[in-house]
Amino acid sequence: MNVELKCCKCGKTYPAAATEFTCACGHLLEVQLDLSAIGVSKADFEKRPADLGVWRFREMVHPLVEPSNIVTRGEGNTFLYPSERVSAFVGTRTWLKHEGENPTGSFKDRGMTAGITEAVRRGAKTVICASTGNTSASLASYAAIAGLRCVVLMPDGKIAFGKLSQALAYGAKAIQVKGNFDQALALVRQLAEAKNYYVLNSVNPWRLEGQKTIVWEILFQMGLAGQDGPDWIVVPAGNVGNVSAFGKALKEWYELGWIEKLPRLAAVQAEGANPLYRTWKASAGGIPDALEAVENPDTIGSAIRIGKPVNWVKCLQYLKLTNGVAEQVSDQQMMDAKAVVDAAGIGCEPASAASVAGARKLLESGVISRGEKVACVLTGHVLKDADNTVNYHLGKLPYPPAFANAPIQAEASLDALEAALK
Ligand SMILES: *Cc1c(COP(=O)(O)O)cnc(C)c1O
Ligand SMILES: [Zn+2]
Repeated sequence: MNVELKCCKCGKTYPAAATEFTCACGHLLEVQLDLSAIGVSKADFEKRPADLGVWRFREMVHPLVEPSNIVTRGEGNTFLYPSERVSAFVGTRTWLKHEGENPTGSFKDRGMTAGITEAVRRGAKTVICASTGNTSASLASYAAIAGLRCVVLMPDGKIAFGKLSQALAYGAKAIQVKGNFDQALALVRQLAEAKNYYVLNSVNPWRLEGQKTIVWEILFQMGLAGQDGPDWIVVPAGNVGNVSAFGKALKEWYELGWIEKLPRLAAVQAEGANPLYRTWKASAGGIPDALEAVENPDTIGSAIRIGKPVNWVKCLQYLKLTNGVAEQVSDQQMMDAKAVVDAAGIGCEPASAASVAGARKLLESGVISRGEKVACVLTGHVLKDADNTVNYHLGKLPYPPAFANAPIQAEASLDALEAALK
């Protein structure tokens, strides 16, 4: 099958084997599948066992790879939770697609299985990423499984402990860089060029191909859009690779005629790390020449603490295509939404709850209508950032928790316990 890389901005094409991630014009490349030659139907995909996960969709994830060469941990096929509590909080029927249920606890695994498979195909010896946590946790694991050396650059401080512990445990060479994520990513790209390392941040177009499968699973689990499927897919947005992958997934199935209607995408950022939101607001529906970068991004959602999202052009294109929107939420709104998701028995990390907080806000402002069906993506596992969960319930964050569940202190006696449980 003919597969090319294509510039998201100027349309120039490159061979699939090209080593660049960036076009001569400076914008990112995307994998361009020949949809007329994929050789499978939607019904074929539907008939395959769901526990094939990402690779259930192999012909549309990485058609060039031999199935026996795939590096996988059985990622994907995550649960889609209906939740009355969360629906009541959002204000309309809401489902939660839990990407924290992947092998290393975030959606990054769906990208990494595709990206590491491509790294091996290219004969890479060392893989590298910059990461606020989950990318490094995932890459460290997949590199170890594939027998590759792994280098991760982490921005100074503020890395959630669950994530740092994974990168160390899986054996990555972890370097804490005295700078923010955007600086670390710029260094990764220079280092990779100089030392011939293979980059697995979301600048890598092969990685994003794996993340498309989140959307296709939602469509199979809920029903196809225009029938029983979602009216909205709401996703936390940092480097905005994931929301771009979602847009590409929808575009491809729409072009194949497999869905009649495009669900609308909503990309939700934190108020303190909102470059995509600001750029979208300023764009009036077009694609501006420059990003409205945020120099010192700050939010409790460390996974979305990014000021210069590399995939911003693609993201805006896909928001436009799907009649989507960008939104922003405060840290307080994020943590209160997280508490609702957690108390529903489901649980997620702080950044993940931006989707639920964003859906609620979009409903309040009338962008999402009551009665519409909303799929919110929970991007990471509740145990990734236990510190901030506990700090929330203890009232130690800079804002009061709306749904605190603080532990009670009691003497070691039956009377004291009965009094405590009154
Ligand atoms: C990586 C990540 C995000 C942001 O995804 P982007 O593709 O960078 O927009 C959001 N939430 C979690 C938990 C993540 O790990
Ligand atoms: Zn170009």
